[in-house]
Amino acid sequence: MVRKIFEKFRKQTEAVDFVINNETVLPGESTLIKLSVGRIPSGNRITIDAHVFRGKLEGPTALILAGIHGDEINGIETLRQCLEKEVFENIIRGTVIAIPIVNIFGFINFSREVPDGKDVNRSFPGSMVGSLASRVARILTKKVLPLVDFVIDMHTGGGPRFNYPQVRYAKIDNAAYELGKQFGAPFLIQKPFISKSLRKIAHEMNIPVIVYESGESLRFDAYGIEVGFSGILNVLSAAQMLPPENYKQYKNIIIVKKTSWIRASYSGLFIWSKSSGQQIKRGEIIGYVKDPQGLKSVSIISNKDGYIIGHNNAPVVNQGDALFHISYEQDELIY
Ligand SMILES: [Zn+2]
Repeated sequence: MVRKIFEKFRKQTEAVDFVINNETVLPGESTLIKLSVGRIPSGNRITIDAHVFRGKLEGPTALILAGIHGDEINGIETLRQCLEKEVFENIIRGTVIAIPIVNIFGFINFSREVPDGKDVNRSFPGSMVGSLASRVARILTKKVLPLVDFVIDMHTGGGPRFNYPQVRYAKIDNAAYELGKQFGAPFLIQKPFISKSLRKIAHEMNIPVIVYESGESLRFDAYGIEVGFSGILNVLSAAQMLPPENYKQYKNIIIVKKTSWIRASYSGLFIWSKSSGQQIKRGEIIGYVKDPQGLKSVSIISNKDGYIIGHNNAPVVNQGDALFHISYEQDELIY
């Protein structure tokens, strides 16, 4: 059964030719496309590597990408596993474009941004005569997005902030909501568009994007990688791009309408007693900030009934630092 959402994707690849970066990929073929971004100061050429897989039958085109933030490694590892296990070689209809690392500059510098400190995901649609981040964004906007029907964009929390596996979508984007349900992560969270992000610009081009978040920067999260791997297979099999046996049934998905951060009211060592994924009650102690001399301990109390969808793994925190990301106003979707 083709789920309704996938029936109306408009760029069904009826044409035999699928042309990306002036290279043609024929039905049943796969290839590696190198999108040139420029040179680093040493003179070495930098390219964004896009793996393209075409099924023999016509169907939608999916873009799955990671590493827009160069230090967010879980998505990169998830796509690496998909490529190593040759998941996309089994595509029966449509096309998959898989880009494991968008921000090569950030990746080699262990950094979220490009070397001038700009964030690629705040630089869309970008410009080829702009800053480095703007150029990277432009290549995706110009050469890749016009070809695709939907996008899975893989991220982690920034720095030591850990995200429990979750899909984010914009409330007004019903197609992204449907994609998020098919992905099957434990939390499906409404988040407004961020200005100049890939998600916002793609939406303006009528392309739904789901953002998958799991774990923290520069650290593997095995569960998040596993959920991400299954999520990709789930979406592709719901679109009938992969055979249905790839679909993994989930028990339930918690749909979250609102989230807020609990911040540190005191500086010191942060000891959490509840962690991400756990349900919490208003008034419950979920952690402590303790002074290093052993004299003072400040309890962190939940101000909501909800779930912890993210927490800070930093052992030392300052007043005002984000400690727990709490969801509230949620529905449970049982599959
Ligand atoms: Zn990110």
